Amino acid sequence: MVKIARKIAGEVFDDKKCLIDNQGYIFNMVNEMLPQKWDEETDIIIVGSGFAGLAAAIEAKEAGSSVIILEKMKGYGGNSTISDGVIAAACTNMQADLEIADSPRLMFKDMLEAGLGLNQPKLVQTLTEKSAETFQWTIDYLGVNYLNRVDQFGGHSVPRSHTTSNRTGSAIIKQLLRVVWGKPGWRDWIPTERTYQADIPPERVEYSCIALENCVSLRG
Ligand SMILES: Cc1cc2nc3c(=O)[nH]c(=O)nc-3n(C[C@H](O)[C@H](O)[C@H](O)COP(=O)(O)OP(=O)(O)OC[C@H]3O[C@@H](n4cnc5c(N)ncnc54)[C@H](O)[C@@H]3O)c2cc1C
Repeated sequence: MVKIARKIAGEVFDDKKCLIDNQGYIFNMVNEMLPQKWDEETDIIIVGSGFAGLAAAIEAKEAGSSVIILEKMKGYGGNSTISDGVIAAACTNMQADLEIADSPRLMFKDMLEAGLGLNQPKLVQTLTEKSAETFQWTIDYLGVNYLNRVDQFGGHSVPRSHTTSNRTGSAIIKQLLRVVWGKPGWRDWIPTERTYQADIPPERVEYSCIALENCVSLRG
């Protein structure tokens, strides 16, 4: 269980006691700086509302956990929603229909080559082995529509790039949000900026944050 306090940085934390890393982000706090009163508790905190965050939220919710998503931007979807909406996947039904021979092993090899061997092989293996299943999940579970074609983009030795019907990742984000918001009892959404606009002076909005038991989400 994670505890949350909806506060602004200036009120909760004494700046001198914050530990700042070399990029200027607060990364830790000493115990005495933690809020005395916590406003909420939840099983799981998810930071970010892109593909990763929303998919994780769905899985966590389905496993019976209470979930809160924090998003620092005014809108949802992060880079995912502005992406080109192309999913590379090996051994999909669409490839089979077009008689394109592919395999997770070939995709693994292509990715390591394109990544100049800097990729983490274990992660690439998981990605390639789960790629067709995940792509199909976006169709069957989320209801995402794709263009009726499979392209061969740079770095891939066969056609395996599947593009959403509106050619952006927003087509997937929209469906992820539909599922997330459609879940019974769903209420746990905290866009950090909007949460604070109501009760802090505009000049302080940039310091808005949510204090968590062990870390802090800071917009600024
Ligand atoms: C222009 C563009 C086109 C692309 N096209 C493709 C493509 O066609 N195919 C492809 O496979 N990949 C593409 N990519 C890459 C792809 O978009 C990313 O790999 C993917 O979206 C990452 O998803 P994510 O959920 O990890 O991160 P994101 O979608 O970036 O989500 C992270 C979220 O976390 C939020 N956040 C971060 N820090 C905090 C904090 N401290 N507190 C609260 N919220 C926070 C951010 O605001 C953001 O909303 C493209 C990327 C770009 C930029």
